[in-house]
Amino acid sequence: MIKYDPKSLKAEEFINDEEIRATLAYADENKNNLELIDQIIEKAKLRKGLSHREASVLLACENEEKNNEIYDLAEQIKKDFYGTRIVMFAPLYLSNYCVNGCLYCPYHAVNKTIPRKKLTQEEVRAEVIALQDMGHKRLAIEAGEDPVNNPIEYILECINTIYSVKHKNGAIRRVNVNIAATTVENYRKLKEAGIGTYILFQETYHKEGYETLHPTGPKHNYAYHTEAMDRAMEGGIDDVGIGVLFGLDKYRYEFAGLLMHAEHLEAVHGVGPHTISVPRVKKADDIDPTAFDNSLSDDMFCKIAACIRIAVPYTGMIISTRETPEVREKIIRLGVSQISGGSRTSVGGYTEEERPHDTEQFDVSDNRTLDEVVRWLMTAGYIPSFCTACYREGRTGDRFMSLCKSGQIQNCCHPNALMTLKEFLVDYASEETKKVGDALIEKEINNIGKDSIKEVVRTELKKIENGKRDIYF
Ligand code: SAM
Repeated sequence: MIKYDPKSLKAEEFINDEEIRATLAYADENKNNLELIDQIIEKAKLRKGLSHREASVLLACENEEKNNEIYDLAEQIKKDFYGTRIVMFAPLYLSNYCVNGCLYCPYHAVNKTIPRKKLTQEEVRAEVIALQDMGHKRLAIEAGEDPVNNPIEYILECINTIYSVKHKNGAIRRVNVNIAATTVENYRKLKEAGIGTYILFQETYHKEGYETLHPTGPKHNYAYHTEAMDRAMEGGIDDVGIGVLFGLDKYRYEFAGLLMHAEHLEAVHGVGPHTISVPRVKKADDIDPTAFDNSLSDDMFCKIAACIRIAVPYTGMIISTRETPEVREKIIRLGVSQISGGSRTSVGGYTEEERPHDTEQFDVSDNRTLDEVVRWLMTAGYIPSFCTACYREGRTGDRFMSLCKSGQIQNCCHPNALMTLKEFLVDYASEETKKVGDALIEKEINNIGKDSIKEVVRTELKKIENGKRDIYF
C-alpha cells in the first residue's frame, strides 16, 4: 500500500489512488447527508477553501436546493475575488511535431495524415503581428513534444521573438507556456526568458488510465509528468497552471486529483496553482471523442467549475474555445476568470484569411472574433481585461496570493482592467464594440467608491485617448 502524503514529492504519494477511492466512497456515503453538506457550505462561505474530501461531497450532492446554494455561493465568491473582470488570452501554436503517442491528440506520432509544421521565427513574427492586430496582449504558446524539432532552445527563441515584436501600438506583454514536462534546468531557462505561467495539463490523474492513454513516448512516464510542477517551482517558476482533460477518465476521480494536486503544491511550496484549466476532449483530425466513454454533461461540467471555485477561491480558472458560447456563458458566471477569444488551434492559423483545419489540434466551438467576444462579455456585464500588470510588477506566486487573500489586489485589478480595455477600444475595436465599451467604462468609473481613485483613473484614461500606452498600477 502506498501511503497518502500531500507533502511528499513522489507522484503516487501526493496523488494517492487509495485516498481518491476513499474520498469517492466518502462522497457517495454522504451525498444526501444534508447536515454535513450544510457544514461544508458554511465552511466554504469563509472563503478559505475546502479540502478535496469536502469538495467531493458537494460535487456528489444530489439535493437540488443544496446544489442551488452551491451555485449561488460560487457566483458570489467569484464576484468577491474577481469582480466582473475576465482576462483575455489566445493560444499560439508553434509546432505540431510530436514524439508522443497520446490517444486523444491528433499530434500523436502515429498520425501520418496530419501535415507537420513548425513556425520559423519569421512566421512567429507574422503570427504575433496578426494577434496584436486583433488586440491580444497575453498568449499561451503551445507545442508538441519533440526534442529534435522543438528543443527548449527553439521554444526560448520563439519567446524572445514574441516579446520583441512591437507592431503599431501592439505588444505581447505576457507569454504563458504550455509545453511538455521538462527538467529543472529547462524550467529555469523558461523563467529567465520571462514567461508568465507554466501550464501543464495532467490529462488524467488516474495512473493506469494515464499509462494506457499515453502508450509511447516520454509522456508515458506518469511520475515524471505528475511531478513536473514541483520541478518547475524548483526552477523558479512560481505561477503554474494545472488542469485535467475532462472526458478521458471518470470526472469525480479527476476532480479529487486536481484538488489534491493543488493541496500538494500549497503544502510543499507554500503557494497553490495560479490557474486551473478545465478542457474537455474534442473532435480532431483522427480523434473521435466518443471513443473515451467518459464524457460528461454540460450541467455536470458547470458544477465542477462551481465546486472548483469554492474549493480554491484564489486560483484563477480558465475556459477555452473548446466550449460553445452557451457553455462559456454559464461557466463564466460560476467561476471562470480567464478565457481565450478569436483562437486558432492550428500552426500558423492566425495569418490565414480563413480558419485552416489541416494542422488543427481540436475543433473550436466558439468561432467568434475577439471583437465579438469582447462585445458579448461587456453586454453580459463583464469587463474584458487585457491586464498583465501583476506579473510585470513581480506580483507572482506567494506575493500575488497574499495580495489576493487580503483583498488588496482589487485596487489594482479594476483600474488596470479598465485601462487595458480602453486601449483595446481605441486601437482595435469596431465602432459598435467601442460604443458598448465606452459606456461600460463610464459606468464602472462611477462605481469606484473613492473620489481620489476615480480622478486618477479618469486622468489615465484621458492619457490613453491621447496616445499613451501601457499604463498600469
Ligand atoms: N504537448 C504538450 C504536453 O505534452 O503537455 C502540451 C501542448 S498541447 C498542444 C495542449 C493540451 O491540449 C494538451 O495538454 C491536452 O490536454 C489538450 N488536447 C489534446 N488533444 C485534445 C483534443 N482532442 N481535444 C481537446 N483538447 C486536447
